[in-house]
Amino acid sequence: MDFQWITDRVGYFQGAVNIGYVKVSPQEGLLVDAGLDDQAIKKVLKSLKMQNLPLTHLFITHAHADHYGGAAYLQKMSEVNTLAPELEAAILQNPMIEPLYLYNGAYPMDEWRNKFLEGKPVRIDTVLKAEGEFRIGEAIFRTISLSGHSYNQSGLFFDNILFASDGYFGVDALEKHGIPFIVDAERTMDSLEKIKKLPCRGAVPGHGRFEEDHCYTIDKNIALHKEIERELYEAVKAKIGGISLEELVSTICTDKGIIIKNPPSYMLFRTAITAYLTKLIKENQVRFVMKDNQLLIEPLSR
Ligand SMILES: [Zn+2]
Repeated sequence: MDFQWITDRVGYFQGAVNIGYVKVSPQEGLLVDAGLDDQAIKKVLKSLKMQNLPLTHLFITHAHADHYGGAAYLQKMSEVNTLAPELEAAILQNPMIEPLYLYNGAYPMDEWRNKFLEGKPVRIDTVLKAEGEFRIGEAIFRTISLSGHSYNQSGLFFDNILFASDGYFGVDALEKHGIPFIVDAERTMDSLEKIKKLPCRGAVPGHGRFEEDHCYTIDKNIALHKEIERELYEAVKAKIGGISLEELVSTICTDKGIIIKNPPSYMLFRTAITAYLTKLIKENQVRFVMKDNQLLIEPLSR
């Protein structure tokens, strides 16, 4: 996990999941997210210590375990004032909610309660608005609402650099996932357009590298979302008599060359596909219908 300065105050640990850092003052420092697990945050703490950099605050962008899994260890090892956007904060304090919603609201089996879906509970000292400001000493941080990938994710804007978290993915991460995880397709697109308009000197995604010209990568994200939406609509149209959600997941994933390896991963794809479908339903392109006690999706026109 390499640490890289972007400005003289803002930097990030580049890894499978990026962790941002802001040197607020000689005595105060802020981490943006805490990585997947104890191992990840241990490396960060070691590096900060070696560079003699202060750590007093932790901002968590959203309640996905790969971004907060290291937070409980960090809180155990040092005094960090922890901030998170509302709703995400509720999940961080009750992390069983993620496996719960992925498992259709039924109590999740132990298999589902792994470190990728459920980290240790995090103490939240300050619940923030998804869009607003907070201060540490003289420094003013702007939170930017980037919902869509999660319910109430916030990016963080400081020193003209945006920590976008999973508001967009680096090109390699996009290709790896095939279908990015989202909970709301409309908001995902709005958040991408919002990032493009922010007057910043560059952005750090949650997965990928810092780029000064991040708009190119954002456009790749937008293009992929549009492509998935179009493919979903075509798949619904192609099946006479309606298609079930299960068949739709199977059709789209197979077409994209995705091989789903386990049930939790299946549920993540199913949630994302449901989110795209919701957008198509709102736009009067498709609808849910009940046939023979089956929930099917059919086009509104042929
Ligand atoms: Zn995420």
